[in-house]
Amino acid sequence: MKFPSMAEAAGRTLGDEEVAAAERVIRSGMLNSVWGTEARLLEAEIARMYGVRHAISCSSGTAALHLSVVAAAPDPGDEIITTPITDFGTVAPILAQNAVPVFADVDPADGNLDPAAVASLIGPRTRAIMAVHLFGAPARIDELRALADAHGLALIEDCAQAWLTELPDPPAPEDQPAADGLPAADGAPLAGGTPRLAGTVGDVGCLSLQQWKHITCGDGGVVLTDDDERARRMRLFADKGWDRVAGRSHASFGLNYRMTELQAAVARAQLAKLPGVVGARRRTAALLLDALKDVPGVRLPRPDGHAWWLFPLVLPGGGAPELAADLAAAGIPARAGYLAEPLNRAPVWAAPVYGSSRYPLEGYRPAACPEAERLVAETLVIIDWNERYTTEHVEAVAREIARSLPRP
Ligand SMILES: *Cc1c(COP(=O)(O)O)cnc(C)c1O
Repeated sequence: MKFPSMAEAAGRTLGDEEVAAAERVIRSGMLNSVWGTEARLLEAEIARMYGVRHAISCSSGTAALHLSVVAAAPDPGDEIITTPITDFGTVAPILAQNAVPVFADVDPADGNLDPAAVASLIGPRTRAIMAVHLFGAPARIDELRALADAHGLALIEDCAQAWLTELPDPPAPEDQPAADGLPAADGAPLAGGTPRLAGTVGDVGCLSLQQWKHITCGDGGVVLTDDDERARRMRLFADKGWDRVAGRSHASFGLNYRMTELQAAVARAQLAKLPGVVGARRRTAALLLDALKDVPGVRLPRPDGHAWWLFPLVLPGGGAPELAADLAAAGIPARAGYLAEPLNRAPVWAAPVYGSSRYPLEGYRPAACPEAERLVAETLVIIDWNERYTTEHVEAVAREIARSLPRP
């Protein structure tokens, strides 16, 4: 059975709407978002979907994460705590701003940051926490928010794999004493019925439109924030520090991280399809969860709020490489571990950073993260997920997993 892939038309939602969007931009003669309209409209549409004051488009998810680090304003040598199980695009921006990534261990149930591990690493140089909603499962973001607030840190959410991931209800106000020790005053009620989305609890949330994400324009990124000053700093950095209102005048250091009008127009057409994409993935993932509920030796992901970028399975007793090999041999797009090694073990930490210089990593050696290392080496299997999967695809996956497990 052929499984549709994110790398081909049959596994994407790219169609006439995206063709029309690209043609509209090309015929307009304006492909650059400084003078065009598409990127500004994309930003307004995403801000409305997420209920945030600012959405700022940029050239990639990595660029979005770089903007988020810029907004956190670490001094050179400051530390940012993050997870070792993620795309390198989470970590590269920390180095690009001369800050030091500090890897905290993860929850062995889902590979998301363990707030207790994060808490144990907060020190005098810590400037921010970068959480990743891994594979689309909500990270424990309210606990991380409370930690960040208690220590005066910025909180960044990497939602590259987590479009429309829904968060559990926030802790009740009586559990959250105000900073002055008095009970919190009754706040404004949450908008009725609207789920809280991953990306709206951190100071900045980051999205990716790269080829393998839920929706795509090839490459692209968006940052979300409610903070006017952070938004101003991120817009400036993404446009060479150029305050366009002040003429050809540069206010601060920045790069060119602008999204093009072609990217933005295609992304707008994709955005309209996003709820359908996530809804379809949730439906088929629920079928697989049900089919696997009695298979021994497997820890199934919690479905709550999950956006199912991938379908992860954890085998607490080990054997992930063997299961992944069985599934792959049966034509199912599955792999063990997600990464070759967790990022705390990546070769990059022994290499020079700029030219021959190791700054800011002199003497740097990331600490062990035993849970992350065990997930990657022994217990985690990921199955590519796709909005085009049918009941037959789910049944084939369930059948092969049951056939392979339990192994003698
Ligand atoms: C894809 C991804 C990124 C990087 O996004 P790009 O658009 O590829 O630069 C960062 N973090 C996570 C978790 C990702 O999955």
